[in-house]
Amino acid sequence: MAEVLVVADGTASGGVKKVTLEALTLARRLGEPAAVVLGAPGTADALAGPLAEYGAVKIYAAESDEIAGHLVAPKAEVLARLAGEVSPAAVLLASGQEGKEIAGRLAVKLDAGLLTDVSDIAADGTVTQVVFAGSTIVTAKANGLPVITVRSNSVTPEPAPAAGERVSVDATVSDAAKGARVLERVAEQKGSRPELTEAGVVVSGGRGVASAENFALIEELADLLGGAVGASRAAVDSGFYPHQFQVGQTGKTVSPQLYLAIGISGAIQHRAGMQTSKTIVAINKDDEAPIFELADYGIVGDLFKVVPQAVEEIRKR
Ligand code: FAD
Repeated sequence: MAEVLVVADGTASGGVKKVTLEALTLARRLGEPAAVVLGAPGTADALAGPLAEYGAVKIYAAESDEIAGHLVAPKAEVLARLAGEVSPAAVLLASGQEGKEIAGRLAVKLDAGLLTDVSDIAADGTVTQVVFAGSTIVTAKANGLPVITVRSNSVTPEPAPAAGERVSVDATVSDAAKGARVLERVAEQKGSRPELTEAGVVVSGGRGVASAENFALIEELADLLGGAVGASRAAVDSGFYPHQFQVGQTGKTVSPQLYLAIGISGAIQHRAGMQTSKTIVAINKDDEAPIFELADYGIVGDLFKVVPQAVEEIRKR
């Protein structure tokens, strides 16, 4: 069976991202999953456990300070060389900023078909893509080798314990690929909440929340549900919540099992970032707010009454 290369998204300190486990789950439909770890020495050791647990028959470890110390070009170069050697059935990456850039470079190097923002893959290689900020679903298939980026929260990761046989890969990098060096990495302040784009539950607040202090209500509900906090652009622009949590066309795209839109009107640009959520619940005092056209469940009411009641009810359970 042909190998399907799955590029691991993660770091030694942060572990493997859930989207990589989803990609391994999807990869099994196309062939035998083999994870590729591209990073600083020691990264493969840190990531090997979950990669093998979720089906990586092999783990190709391409580790060097040069890969870790530069932007994406070295990763694309090393990956292209590996793909040339193993002739995979497909290459899968996470659909984040880095994954997409590596995928684009790789597709050019390999003369392959590039399929981004993929949410499903059939055994014959046909994929479902979510494009134009979630407003259009496309069915597509690559001519020749597919290079696929997988959206977060597309499938439920399924464990499938495999050997995870470690294979060292030539990690030398040409001077041409060392065009942009990393000078400093500053980790985002992370609390105990899940990452916005990976969370199964997202609780978002909008302008209706009315102040930064009131966002404590949104946070309380999110924490009770084990979710992440999001915000509309109006809430961000008003200084209620930091920009890194903005959901929408010019923010992050989320697709959780449950999305709560609280005090959010449902403008097209906000919908663009959340409309593929599985279940949408809206709380808004205006029964004509457009968010109700999209919501599976709607509560017409004052969020300052409804949210505390919900919190109290959830605490009782
Ligand atoms: P509003 O539209 O002001 O809605 C507030 C809602 O809160 C209202 O429906 C109101 O009824 C309700 N409300 C008020 N008080 C209460 C209460 N006490 N209880 C219950 N409900 C209450 N927006 C984004 O979100 N993300 C983006 O990425 C984004 N990108 C954009 C890009 C461009 C190029 C442009 C032009 C706009 C973009 N916008 C984006 C902005 C977007 O058009 C809207 O302005 C924004 O989404 C509105 O945010 P909101 O729903 O929080 O505020």
